[in-house]
Amino acid sequence: MASEGLTPLVRRLAEAKRVTVITGAGVSAASGVPTFRGADGLWSNFRVEDLATAAAFARDPQLVWKWYAWRRELLAACRPNRAHEVLAEWSRRYPKFTLITQNVDGLHERAGTENVVRFHGSLWDLQCWNGCPDSPPSWRDERVPFPELPPRCPHCGGLARPGVVWFGEAIDPAVLAASLAALDCEVCIVVGTSAVVYPAAGLVDEARRRGAFTVEINPERTEATDRFDLSLQGRAEDVLDRLDARLRSEGSSSGNRLSSSQ
Ligand code: NAD
Ligand code: ZN
Repeated sequence: MASEGLTPLVRRLAEAKRVTVITGAGVSAASGVPTFRGADGLWSNFRVEDLATAAAFARDPQLVWKWYAWRRELLAACRPNRAHEVLAEWSRRYPKFTLITQNVDGLHERAGTENVVRFHGSLWDLQCWNGCPDSPPSWRDERVPFPELPPRCPHCGGLARPGVVWFGEAIDPAVLAASLAALDCEVCIVVGTSAVVYPAAGLVDEARRRGAFTVEINPERTEATDRFDLSLQGRAEDVLDRLDARLRSEGSSSGNRLSSSQ
């Protein structure tokens, strides 16, 4: 990707006040978190329907929890990468910045990103499987490893489940509403997602319909590439780093607001 390819986006980002970024598994690849659909993706070794559905959990909660506990262990050893860091900086710089992530790894939060909408929940949240009346909709549990597997609901003593959205489950209406509200933006950047999982994949189309300049950052072409105003072929951690450097140098040469990290 030639550096000039960044210019239309740098111009827009330098002027923008409302920026929305949508991320997928690719943004965490450089942190060592496996993507699902890449060649060495987690799901090449497992059948999705045996692990990430309510039916699978009902059938064998121990197996499903083993998989999630293993992913939590992997994640505990991972660190946010440059892509997470740049987005965290932008979340503090722009007057209105929303980060919608399909990732459940919590790395955006660990990088200090503000205003994160967790579209598919979090591996660090648990929920009561029985939905007992005393339990909150979800609660934080960052223990690695769990003292017992499967972990229990502290309110009713029944099974706890991972606080993630499984295949066949609906997106939390409040999360959906927050995501839709964030599509009223000047620039919408989609980073590291194969854009095949709906409804997340449909968000960028809605942003464009509302007038946003839409950008894809991905080392590979995706099914959605042709629908973007600009496609930047490269790795998230490289492209975002270069974009941020360009924004900073423009900011310091023109003295605009980006130099003073608002
Ligand atoms: P995906 O596995 O379908 O696609 C990953 C995309 O990232 C691919 O298009 C790939 O070309 C791209 N990619 C790989 N390395 C990259 C890099 N360095 N920089 C930028 N892009 C890179 O992932 P998805 O679209 O997020 O899949 C959707 C589902 O997978 C979501 O529901 C998500 O919750 C789940 N998932 C989450 C995690 C996580 O939390 N880290 C990991 C795997 C899958
Ligand atoms: Zn309970």
